[in-house]
Amino acid sequence: MSTLPTAGPGPYPADAPASADLFDRARAVIPGGVNSPVRAFQAVGGTPRFMASGQGPYLFDADGRRYVDLVCSWGPLLHGHAHPEVVAAVQAAAARGTSFGAPTAAEVELADEIVARTPVQRVRLVSSGTEATMTAVRLARAATGRAKLVKFAGCYHGHVDALLAAAGSGVATLGLPGSPGVTSAAAGQTIVLPYNDPAAVQAAFAAEGDQIAAVITEAAAGNMGVIAPRDGFNAALARIAHAHGALLIVDEVLTGFRVSSAGWHGLEPVDADLWTFGKVMGGGLPAAAFGGRADLLDQLAPTGPVYQAGTLAGNPLACAAGLATLRLADADAYRRLDDAAATVSKLTTEALSAAGVPHRLSTAGNLFSVFFTGSDVSDYATAQTQHTAAYAAFFHAMLARGVYLPPSAYEAWFVSTALDDTAVAQVAAATPAAARAAAAAGAGS
Ligand code: PMP
Repeated sequence: MSTLPTAGPGPYPADAPASADLFDRARAVIPGGVNSPVRAFQAVGGTPRFMASGQGPYLFDADGRRYVDLVCSWGPLLHGHAHPEVVAAVQAAAARGTSFGAPTAAEVELADEIVARTPVQRVRLVSSGTEATMTAVRLARAATGRAKLVKFAGCYHGHVDALLAAAGSGVATLGLPGSPGVTSAAAGQTIVLPYNDPAAVQAAFAAEGDQIAAVITEAAAGNMGVIAPRDGFNAALARIAHAHGALLIVDEVLTGFRVSSAGWHGLEPVDADLWTFGKVMGGGLPAAAFGGRADLLDQLAPTGPVYQAGTLAGNPLACAAGLATLRLADADAYRRLDDAAATVSKLTTEALSAAGVPHRLSTAGNLFSVFFTGSDVSDYATAQTQHTAAYAAFFHAMLARGVYLPPSAYEAWFVSTALDDTAVAQVAAATPAAARAAAAAGAGS
């Protein structure tokens, strides 16, 4: 891939009038003007860009500005925006009817595709990652007859009550809810431990192992910035959980079908009991799943007593988008994703080094993020050493030069197979000035 700088569009003015108007209207009728908090730009300041369309590697906002998209809808868009085969599959499915409330062939095909790629024997389709983890936890509790859960600080598994109990380690240790509205009864069942620390897991199981239903972990952490599991960490989780009769739930909502055709499992097989998936498997429409051994999954209704259901579960449009996306995801696609991730991360780290900005590039397969800190990062506490104001300055300088990064320092950056030489060259052209903006924001001080 060529990395020769070419002039992209911009720099755009700091204000974005059409987005600002929409944001005003949105705040009148939607809490905070957004339907998912990080979209509001609170972590970086400024006006969130309201998007009008997407094409290949680009987003177009309400002011008609073009951005190279390094968010990719937070992961689902493996092949970029409006890929012709994905669009055609969704259009054809829509023309046949949008929902039946009855089983369809597309659900079987999507389940077959997931079972073929991953270690799961059976899979249940749902509509969001939150539903997937919520039900995996219910199933683990039912299968073990135990209530408690182990999760790791900084890992996000959706907004399930019991899994929000990690807003901050002090709060968590007291067993207090991580969000108002979560009861202390729900939060009190969750033991929050530092990521990448098997000794803490060992100690928790030594203390109350007979009450723990499951350990839930992201296959590789991607919601406090990207932090790979240390060698042997995931294996230790499986070993410790199993030694105490507990289950291991590996959350591959973010990593699944993105870091390899089998997700994180393709890079590091883990002896888990349940897996959760989402994002890529829905190709940009709402679809997610959880799966595992047949004997566990068959405890779900209608074969077993554990209840779970969904009016739109296995929706035909979502299945069509997911199937088209997975079928395009061949070995060549993963090579292109890996190359794009390596190129963009190298450009960024070179520009930051040239500007004297202390940082750590952190990778897990083709997932990556850049921590603006001079300290090594291995868990949530060390992730919090980053200079978030420097990231905000970097973010806005990139945005002005037509590159859309995650509007928070605590998120992964996502590439797609649509990221071509022209788009990469635009990123290359933007990074030096953005790195200088980060330096000017005091990143080195
Ligand atoms: N698990 C992980 C690892 C995630 O990254 C996310 C969402 N970012 C979820 C679960 C929740 O998925 P959803 O937003 O579809 O509910």
